[in-house]
Amino acid sequence: MINNDRAMEHLMDLLAIEGPTGRETQVAAAITRKLIEAGCRKSWIRTDDAHRRLGDGYETGNLIVRLPGTIRTAPRIMFSAHMDTVPLCRGAIPQIRGGRVVSKSDTGLGGDDRSGCAAMVTLAETLLKNKVPHPPITLLFPIAEENGLHGSRMVRFEDLGNPVMGFNLDGQEPNEIVIGAMSSVRWQAEITGISTHAGLAPHKGVSAGLIASRAMARIAQEGYFGRIEKGHRKGTSNLGTMHGGEANNQVMDNAVLTGECRSHSPAFLDQIVRVYRKSFEQAALSVTNDAGRTGSVEFSVISDYRAFRLKKTETCVRIAREAVESLGLAPNPLVMDAGLDANNFNEKGLPTVTLGTGSHRFHQVDEYVEIQEYLTACRVLLAITQLTAR
Ligand SMILES: [Zn+2]
Repeated sequence: MINNDRAMEHLMDLLAIEGPTGRETQVAAAITRKLIEAGCRKSWIRTDDAHRRLGDGYETGNLIVRLPGTIRTAPRIMFSAHMDTVPLCRGAIPQIRGGRVVSKSDTGLGGDDRSGCAAMVTLAETLLKNKVPHPPITLLFPIAEENGLHGSRMVRFEDLGNPVMGFNLDGQEPNEIVIGAMSSVRWQAEITGISTHAGLAPHKGVSAGLIASRAMARIAQEGYFGRIEKGHRKGTSNLGTMHGGEANNQVMDNAVLTGECRSHSPAFLDQIVRVYRKSFEQAALSVTNDAGRTGSVEFSVISDYRAFRLKKTETCVRIAREAVESLGLAPNPLVMDAGLDANNFNEKGLPTVTLGTGSHRFHQVDEYVEIQEYLTACRVLLAITQLTAR
């Protein structure tokens, strides 16, 4: 029932649109156009005010489409796929090479997560054009996933029409069913030193750069940088950005470092964050000028999301398995070492699995979409609507 040519057209069109985090307006406009062409009423489509509540120059809100069910007694289900891409995908020109869609330019492709968006457009078109009986369906296209799952965190459930289960599309093979993902926090250390002339009076200064270096060196020495393994407890941490200083002849009096920490265990994640905080505080005390003055650090956690683990008996897990099996594939339940919009849905009480749509090598210049997998994923979505219509 799915028209492969149309499904590919949707994929290629959406991949060609630039839409890094916070700049999703064109993506939302293109999806809206396609959905109206597919037969969606304008009154089913809206964007929320997530961008205004996030502040900081986000352009547009989450795109929410509420299809009424032809089977009105069936409970509402939700599909979701984020609209934003990582900055690496700027300027991507999608082209088909072999059985894959790749980027012609030296950029990421943006199959993460436009392949999910395109699969949802294909689903709506297939249901409406062929008049396929279906339950009430919400299509959610969140903004700002890549920089910390902000769009999905801001979604109001009443805007979604209170779905009972969710199917998030943000993965790789069409048989994978992500039933768990990890906790994560983003941290920031703002270091204040004392500025003096670097040649005439360096001993009167306190270098924020030296404090930062000592803190990071200590974290690494204690085994809490990069991949972390302490007995059976595992996690990761990273220093993502560093900004500081103004001139080479001036002792650096300000530096801001940001990064992230992750773990499947919320308790171990707390431990990693404690090591970071302590290391920065002690590093600040360890750097003094000739009068014994020190610098200072403000260490803060700037955003976070929680680990989840769905039971195999959970309805959305069971439906996803049956849908994958109905296409002759073996379901592959997974726990992810990353955060997903599904973290926020599960935390708010909406059981949500995450499925693959043929996207591979996320956030890399060799990112690609495996065409057969993408087309199979479109069929998995259709199967889900039929299984939940019963
Ligand atoms: Zn993604």
